[in-house]
Amino acid sequence: MGTYNVAQICENGHVITAYFSSSPEFGKKFCDQCGAPTLSKCPHCNADIQGKYESEGVFGFGFDAPRFCHNCGASYPWTQRAMDSLNSLAELTEKLSPKERDQLRSAIDDLVRDTPRTQAAIATLKILAPKIGAEAWAGMRSILIEIATESAKKGLGL
Ligand SMILES: [Zn+2]
Ligand SMILES: [Zn+2]
Repeated sequence: MGTYNVAQICENGHVITAYFSSSPEFGKKFCDQCGAPTLSKCPHCNADIQGKYESEGVFGFGFDAPRFCHNCGASYPWTQRAMDSLNSLAELTEKLSPKERDQLRSAIDDLVRDTPRTQAAIATLKILAPKIGAEAWAGMRSILIEIATESAKKGLGL
């Protein structure tokens, strides 16, 4: 049986360390990439943010910031910020009808987590992308590369 180390991550999602409990000296009060405060606990339920899974004989490479709290299911601040920016890009696009904008908003929700609706969300985005306009779509693409699930990215060709 392995255990999880604790991760320390900045509010914008930069991973400071995935080994915060075993090596707190790697921790930082503020992010050295963007200056945002860092956190190692869920702001909603105070559970530790899971870091690197450690078990004998298992050596993982790399560590991605989790999107949601394993204990209460809340989105972490960086997930919320990325979703907010996607939504504000969707708002900016005047080329979409109000109905299409709503469809886009709910599709975004299903691209950051794998749900039975993720495939439908991918299709919605593909249909709406040409209508969004090149500028807004370029912005959405770069946020989605950071935040969408692997299967959503694959489906969207990102
Ligand atoms: Zn940062
Ligand atoms: Zn939580």
